[in-house]
Amino acid sequence: MLDIKSLSVDELKNALKEIGEKPFRAAQLYDWMHNKRVGSITEMSNISKELKQKLQQQFSFVSLKLLLEQVSKEDDTKKFLFELPDGNTVETVWMKYKHGNSVCISSQVGCRMGCKFCASTLGGLVRSLQAGEMLEQIYEVMRITGERVDNIVVMGIGEPFDNYDNLLRFIRRLTEEGGYHLSARSITVSTCGIVENIKRFAAEGLPITLALSLHATTDEKRKEIMPIAFKYSLAQLEEAMGYYFEQTGRRITLEYALIGGVNDTEEEANQLASIAYKLHAHVNLIPVNPVKERGFTQPEKERILAFQSRLKKKGAKATIRREMGRDIDGACGQLRRKQAIEGVL
Ligand code: SAH
Repeated sequence: MLDIKSLSVDELKNALKEIGEKPFRAAQLYDWMHNKRVGSITEMSNISKELKQKLQQQFSFVSLKLLLEQVSKEDDTKKFLFELPDGNTVETVWMKYKHGNSVCISSQVGCRMGCKFCASTLGGLVRSLQAGEMLEQIYEVMRITGERVDNIVVMGIGEPFDNYDNLLRFIRRLTEEGGYHLSARSITVSTCGIVENIKRFAAEGLPITLALSLHATTDEKRKEIMPIAFKYSLAQLEEAMGYYFEQTGRRITLEYALIGGVNDTEEEANQLASIAYKLHAHVNLIPVNPVKERGFTQPEKERILAFQSRLKKKGAKATIRREMGRDIDGACGQLRRKQAIEGVL
């Protein structure tokens, strides 16, 4: 069934015409879904009972079931485990920063990218999310918290560029007038580096922040920890990211998970600084979140700080990501996995 929340007003008009309904209803429906953000078709009070029934028969109207909410004792981070209409689960994280509220959403159920340090990919890809399922993670978190969301990061479970069309629909619905109307500048999309889609994204005319999960400074090392590196070289990635920067003028972020004894040498800091310099990028260092099945550990604190100061000495802007909500399985994919294996519920 067609995901009704993924449709633009014009597409809704056509869809309504096809089922013999008046196209002017499209704007009303859109307003209920994306501006008032009701949780169900039943709540649309100026829509007749007959039309509601017809909509329920013809379209899928995604709603999520909250299975679990974990609240960090260390900060205001909240992690939600949501059940999708087909019974699959995804994680969504809510973070409060001084500069506003952020939500980190999932773009797929599982992931097929196979990064060695990541929990989300352990069970492979189950399926991609529809746009409505991505939107609902945000809408539902706003309903639960009663607060507005200022920033969105697509950094949860899944590879957003492995679900390109739905990702784009999600971004269009979220940013267009008449709906939540979030500025594209407040959205960050994180990718392991699917070159064709980085280029495609550059041409969409959206000033979105792109974060590249780099994690290694040579092709050899990257291949050891990220299978995607067999498909695209660092040179190809640099070229695509450079093009993204040229097209959008948006500063790129390079994510670098620091793994003890794997990618934390001074030489690697130097190489990373030169990549960042070439790409006008900001470096975000993430001390690796240990995943039980993976056996990777964080470098010592001093080594992390030394890595950062080396980068700075070489002229790169580098921050160390605050590890929010670690006590609540902050790293993506860990809660969903725990539920699947141990049945945390
Ligand atoms: N597939 C996308 C987005 C999801 S992962 C991507 O690869 O960018 C979000 C970020 O968390 C990525 O940079 C990813 O490499 C990183 N990440 C995954 N597992 C991690 C872990 N155990 N510790 C630290 N960072 C991790």
